[in-house]
Amino acid sequence: MERLPKIRTPLPGPRAAKLIELDKTYVSPSYTRSYPLVAEKGSGVWVEDVDGNAFLDFTAGIAVCSTGHCHPEVVEAIKSQAAKLLHMSGTDFYYTSQIVLAEKLASLAPWNSGKRVYFGNSGAEAVEAAFKLARWYTKRELNLAFFGAFHGRTMGALSLTASKTIQKRHYNPLVPGITHIPYAYCYRCPYNLRYPGCDVACVQWIEDALFRTTMPPEEIAAIFVEPIQGEGGYIVPPPEFHERLYKTAKKYGILYVADEVQSGMGRTGKMFAMEHFGVEPEMMALAKGIASGMPLGALVARSDIMVWEAGSHASTFGGNPVSCQAAMKTIDLLEKGLVKNAQIQGEYLMRGLRELQGEHECMGDVRGKGLMVAVELVKDRETKEPACKWRNEIITAAFKKGLLLLGCGENSIRFCPALMVNSHEIDTCLSIFGEATKEVTG
Ligand code: PLP
Repeated sequence: MERLPKIRTPLPGPRAAKLIELDKTYVSPSYTRSYPLVAEKGSGVWVEDVDGNAFLDFTAGIAVCSTGHCHPEVVEAIKSQAAKLLHMSGTDFYYTSQIVLAEKLASLAPWNSGKRVYFGNSGAEAVEAAFKLARWYTKRELNLAFFGAFHGRTMGALSLTASKTIQKRHYNPLVPGITHIPYAYCYRCPYNLRYPGCDVACVQWIEDALFRTTMPPEEIAAIFVEPIQGEGGYIVPPPEFHERLYKTAKKYGILYVADEVQSGMGRTGKMFAMEHFGVEPEMMALAKGIASGMPLGALVARSDIMVWEAGSHASTFGGNPVSCQAAMKTIDLLEKGLVKNAQIQGEYLMRGLRELQGEHECMGDVRGKGLMVAVELVKDRETKEPACKWRNEIITAAFKKGLLLLGCGENSIRFCPALMVNSHEIDTCLSIFGEATKEVTG
């Protein structure tokens, strides 16, 4: 018998409601919670709340629990490392797990030359390290990033982020020298063109307009780019986008930094999403799915670029031994089948959503790669008016039926389950999502 969600109390249930009241008093109000889930335990793609309600999780803790909640082999690796060495600080001492993981990540990175790895605790820290290394190496002050990009919330990473105004309000001045440009969002082309007739004009515009008017290209240290935009709406650029952009960057000695924090570690059906585009960036920021839920960020860079001197950058907790062991086991599981499963189940999920799109006028666009999939909701397929309220209502309706979903962009819903999800679980997700959509949009 296939497992199904089980909602046995009103939501939130009595225990959840009590904890949420406490949270309101003591926890920072800066967090955004879409619905009142108070998680107690998880296994695979299933999460149980504190009142015993069972939910099918298509969020994986924001695309983090790549191997599923509490994969027994990951838990065992964590336990065994925790009993041996919890912390030593890789900034001042050597220990096995950090060195071995660096070697493993270097072997996975796509380019042929040598590679080195810097360890932090989060996606923002990985991006922050890339930002600093790009300046250190090039001695250039300017950087390019994209509208819709999310690179994190520390001051450097936030300066590269251009996702939502609320993330920046009252925090200025940010790090200077960053220019944001339009991403290849073909469903809503910022230049009002159509692919492929456009010939990826959004890249050509950089040379034709930007580099001729406001940004001297020889002063640009790096282009920061998500292979597939994540928080911005799971936006997949056309196949030539990265190749063209990379060529432009190389022409002027600009570093190409791929932010693979959300798209990496197998999620798109390849270990790194940039592999779909045939581009080898000089640096790659990793986090989220890398350690199945343990905090870890990594910056993998070409070793001829990661040449900063001792003392120029470090973090006490970065590359924690327990997180590194969790990452080693995670990568092992990814290589032994989960990356492939992400590709197969991703195609299955996409097919299912496309079928639903035939029934629901509000599903304007269905897009993604592997298990990084989104539906963009519109009021009308012709005008493409964003259906922001419907989006939120569908997520809430799905929650009440026992399916956990998250939004991305203004009016999209993302589907980013653990990479071990099976087709029965996808069928359940599709069925609940379809019901919730019908309920909200009629
Ligand atoms: N980069 C990308 C592409 C992300 O999606 C995120 C988080 O959503 C980050 C960076 C920041 O990661 P963290 O929240 O771990 O700092």
